[in-house]
Amino acid sequence: MNRSFISLGSNMGDRLEMLKQAVRLLTEHSSIEVSKVSSIYETAPVGFTEQEAFLNMVILVHTDLSAPALLDVCQEIERKLDRKREIRWGPRTIDLDILLFNQDRMDSERLTIPHPRMHERAFVLVPLLEIDGAQDFIEPQREGIEIWRTYNSVDSFVSEE
Ligand code: ATP
Ligand code: MG
Ligand code: MG
Repeated sequence: MNRSFISLGSNMGDRLEMLKQAVRLLTEHSSIEVSKVSSIYETAPVGFTEQEAFLNMVILVHTDLSAPALLDVCQEIERKLDRKREIRWGPRTIDLDILLFNQDRMDSERLTIPHPRMHERAFVLVPLLEIDGAQDFIEPQREGIEIWRTYNSVDSFVSEE
């Protein structure tokens, strides 16, 4: 079984619903088990700052899929949730990025793991540390990010109306 951390973010439309739909679609995939969900965090936009605040979270999944196949699933979910690529780092209904995949390193045209910008992003590191304290070599700065809502389990998150 492969162990992967995925970061999710949304700042358009019903942000919480976008995160939920994305996690639901992952749980419904026959080769993916969503094992942990972090709290939902609200974060100020970085990069292109003239946009709405984001909701961000990190999840842990177990899967038989390879990393590129997992990326296919993530991109299919982005398409289903109507992600458009307009401004780089601009507003989006949903973004799913693969942060880590086992201890693997890879760098192909469409997939770099570990995610190349994860170490500079509080909105990735804070939720990642929350669900995996073993990543304790990183100490994120915590400005511009706060807990927005916490769920007790994957189930309580995906089944909440
Ligand atoms: P950033 O990668 O800085 O968070 P972004 O998520 O907004 O920016 P996207 O438009 O979602 O960027 O993705 C651009 C491309 O990044 C995708 O087409 C995908 O092939 C590639 N990519 C490379 N490595 C990864 C990864 N680890 N997870 C997701 N996408 C990746
Ligand atoms: Mg991203
Ligand atoms: Mg992305």
